[in-house]
Amino acid sequence: MHSDRTADLAARDKAHVWHPFTQQQQWAESDPLFIERGEGSYLIDTDGEYYLDGVSSLWTNVHGHGRPELDEAIRRQLERIAHSTFLGLSHPLAVDLAEKLVAIAPHGLNRVFYSDNGSTSTEIAVKMAFQAQQQRGETQRVVFATLQDAYHGDTLGAVSVGSIALFHRVFGPLLFETVSLPAPTTPGGDEEAKCLAEAQRILAEQGDRLAGFIFEPLVQGAAGMKMHSPAYLRPLLEQARSQGALLIADEVATGFGRTGTMFAMEQVGLSPDLLCTAKGLSGGYLPLAATLATEAVYEAFLASPAEYKQFFHGHTFTANPLGCAVALASLDLFERDDTLGHVRAMSEQLAHHLGRLSRQPGVRAIRQRGVMIGVDLCAADGSDLDPAALTGHRVCMDARPRGAVLRPLGDTIVLMPILSMSEGEITDLMRILSESIAAVVA
Ligand SMILES: *Cc1c(COP(=O)(O)O)cnc(C)c1O
Repeated sequence: MHSDRTADLAARDKAHVWHPFTQQQQWAESDPLFIERGEGSYLIDTDGEYYLDGVSSLWTNVHGHGRPELDEAIRRQLERIAHSTFLGLSHPLAVDLAEKLVAIAPHGLNRVFYSDNGSTSTEIAVKMAFQAQQQRGETQRVVFATLQDAYHGDTLGAVSVGSIALFHRVFGPLLFETVSLPAPTTPGGDEEAKCLAEAQRILAEQGDRLAGFIFEPLVQGAAGMKMHSPAYLRPLLEQARSQGALLIADEVATGFGRTGTMFAMEQVGLSPDLLCTAKGLSGGYLPLAATLATEAVYEAFLASPAEYKQFFHGHTFTANPLGCAVALASLDLFERDDTLGHVRAMSEQLAHHLGRLSRQPGVRAIRQRGVMIGVDLCAADGSDLDPAALTGHRVCMDARPRGAVLRPLGDTIVLMPILSMSEGEITDLMRILSESIAAVVA
């Protein structure tokens, strides 16, 4: 049973708060958790219960909650200043962080434009690509290529280049022109080869009308952890580039180690013209985003002030100093903890557990790239689930009293462990998931 305090919070939440992507009518009947504290891989609620953070607080947390080094970096900056504007002024940590990002990013990305969330980082990349093309005299380039089921955020430009049908149904009349390329669910195999051939045909049809191609490299997270191989993506990128399109890698989810390398583009073996980061940039601590661009893109905006060629975009909290401070401390921890080495070991441990899970009734398919994982559910006899039964949601709810917070995408269970999780914590998380699937599906 919940404490009086938790019950009181629930009543007051339901009286005034509107939650993202939430059917409030369902929320009003639910039994919400109130997370009050975090310790390492655990979230702690207002009743003092501990939960493994199985999706890294929506794909953001990197080194654990309450990491002393990260907390301290924010405190130290707070003694100086919490925020000053980046419009017409600069600050030291934004310079340090820009240098650091350029050093770790794929080759050629030499310029850093800050904002404060994933949607703005992609919105900025799309506007930058478009304005750069316009200012290069390529005024016929008005179409963006996207991958089927792409997700790039929720502002209208980001929704335009997304192709999740559910969102397009409502906002369709407000969106600009894009062309959607077939993308596989699973890497390798016939499906992927077919998608590639069809995507190449569609791209070619667009000729020099393409302004840019925006894609989530290797893992399309919000699509339901759809995955493709470099052998699918790379030829498409090369073709789009040869047609004059600017390549925009949306690494908001895949960036900062989740796929096993610092950026997924390292595995694709090609440098994009623009690269979007957010979620893990600040270690998952504070809203901070950065869109990286090549010098060639940057140069399309250089002119005398009277020509009005500057990039017409900026957010009030651009390059917030507290965010920059914790981002720098997070990148330091990557080196000191050998985070990428730990991710490799953890990926192997996860693969071992997932092999066992894949033989369990109720599990149809599993996809894994690094520590990004999708587990597709089915009925115990292997038949399709009725989506209206909300099985994925029920599995995640069942996991809570067992000690894990998970969030599904439809009937796909997402696992995205914090990069610093221990072997024992991964074992616990996998046991809980297995028990919850057994309890709900059987
Ligand atoms: C989460 C996400 C976004 C949007 O980021 P927000 O911070 O939620 O606006 C964009 N692209 C990808 C690939 C994402 O996973």
